[in-house]
Amino acid sequence: VFAVLDGMDGCGKTTQATRLVEEIARLRGEGSDPLHLREPGSTVAGERIRALVLDPDVQLGSGSLALLFAAARRETLEQLVAPALAQGRDVVIERFHASTFAYQGGAGLTDDDLLSMLHGWAGSPRPTIEIVLEIDPEDSFARAMARDGGGSDRFESRGLEFQRRVAAGMHRYVERAPLAVGIDGRGSEDEVAGRVIEAVLRSAAE
Ligand code: C5P
Repeated sequence: VFAVLDGMDGCGKTTQATRLVEEIARLRGEGSDPLHLREPGSTVAGERIRALVLDPDVQLGSGSLALLFAAARRETLEQLVAPALAQGRDVVIERFHASTFAYQGGAGLTDDDLLSMLHGWAGSPRPTIEIVLEIDPEDSFARAMARDGGGSDRFESRGLEFQRRVAAGMHRYVERAPLAVGIDGRGSEDEVAGRVIEAVLRSAAE
């Protein structure tokens, strides 16, 4: 399994990715060691790119940001995901194509341009399922504000309108991308975890 957990800020990605890793380990049994990754991050280069893109004091245009996120993804795929899958390990990653589509989208590109760029350029390994946790943009806004003090990094000073655009982008991605599955991210942690594992098991059985 190479499962993506994506979705807007404050949708519960980290909590649910942790739960999914635990559940996969439980189902696979002794000796299984699923890898939990985040994007951007997880490699040395990726974590440095993360610090760079989040730093509000570093001037970066939207094109450079997109390229930096893409470079972090390439390193994660080459250094970590490919070797892990080759060893038979399962991989769970927070954020992937849906985030690029929803956050870096626009800028004169159509959805079709973006989708073909994402799927062509990012290459392999490709995920087996891309889960997008969908919550109301109002909740995303409130949770991001509460968690980060509302504006501590480059991205957290964005308003509710921005979160609405991201939510719409995430939803369009679910409708358009073949591997994407939208999951209702509202409700208790246990309820959402149940929906996530069900979707992963269903996709693994296909
Ligand atoms: O959720 P996480 O802390 O991993 O995301 C870090 C920040 O990077 C978020 O605020 C998110 O909006 C932003 N991001 C982005 N484009 C991506 C991935 C993350 O703008 N492709």
